[in-house]
Amino acid sequence: MNSGIKLGHLWGIPIRMHLSWLVIIALMTWSLGAGYFPEEFQSYNSWVYWGLGLLTSILFALSVLLHEMGHAYVALHYQIPVKGITLFIFGGLSEITEEPKTPQAEFFIAIAGPLVSFGLALLFGGLWLFNKQFIFLAAPSEWLGRINLTLAIFNMIPGFPLDGGRVLRSLVWTATKNVKRASRVSSIAGQIIAFGFIGIGIYIILQGQLFNGIWLIFIGWFLQNAAATSFAQIGLRYILQEARVWQVMSRDLPLVPGNISINELVNSRIIIGGRRFFLVADSATNNYCGIVTINEINGVAPEDWKKVTAGEIMMPCDKVLEVSPELSLMEALQKMDDKNVAQVPVRGAGNTVVGLLSREQVLRYVRTRAETRV
Ligand SMILES: [Zn+2]
Repeated sequence: MNSGIKLGHLWGIPIRMHLSWLVIIALMTWSLGAGYFPEEFQSYNSWVYWGLGLLTSILFALSVLLHEMGHAYVALHYQIPVKGITLFIFGGLSEITEEPKTPQAEFFIAIAGPLVSFGLALLFGGLWLFNKQFIFLAAPSEWLGRINLTLAIFNMIPGFPLDGGRVLRSLVWTATKNVKRASRVSSIAGQIIAFGFIGIGIYIILQGQLFNGIWLIFIGWFLQNAAATSFAQIGLRYILQEARVWQVMSRDLPLVPGNISINELVNSRIIIGGRRFFLVADSATNNYCGIVTINEINGVAPEDWKKVTAGEIMMPCDKVLEVSPELSLMEALQKMDDKNVAQVPVRGAGNTVVGLLSREQVLRYVRTRAETRV
């Protein structure tokens, strides 16, 4: 999700705009400047309409950003990191990478966005009431007041993945003390609402309103997809947050002595066995002191394999990323991602290496858990 134009930083959060928003702003400027404004406010120069159209579109983009900042602000308040805010195809997207730990946090993070939109609706509505004759004030504020009210109401529809779905989930979570059941309820509500949109869309088309009907079906289809995907993602996230490294790591340590030659390592452990990651033990003390991977081996010319030892090319263990057995899979994966490594030693109590964790193992574990419905 790193695509798009960088707009700046706020509270340490990068704010981006997906390129689709240039199209949205252009279309909106056109529809307001050439259609809506000239009809509502007659007898102005067409430059005025186009200028107001552009201004209103930009303020609309800003309104969507403020909605997302509402979510982000409360998330940060609950110490949940926000990786970025992006103006994305249908609206905004806050990349809140962790699930809230309490239903209260979930409730306030979710409701903050619609509250901001509602506040903006009041603000623009007030400006509109203040002077309905002055076009430079009345035209943008009337439209922005209405669209922000629509945003607030639409987002409060109680089904996943909309904000209202998260509010619903937090309420069911509080009532049942069971976050998984709450997610399921909210996701099912989301799918019912999505099919409701599609049904009403079909009904409206049969009544002869083709354009509005297609719109509703499109929104319904989008919501249905999003509800299904986000439910799957939440399931995945819970597995990753609940499971610990020790549950997944392999305890079979590929320990090799530091004085083994690369030639022997390749012949006895890679060609036979297919390992790609080795823990190197100090030849004297037999303690783990570094790692050798395919990368290090590929750095040595094959004609030197007989002369060079694992101890000479290893990455010393003070430079190696290690994880503890009690870490959640989520945190372990994030660390591996940051350092761009596929495998890490697991260092347990007593300062000994007790296992190895690889991305492949995590993937296999998550897949198995998802299949067994536990
Ligand atoms: Zn929202």
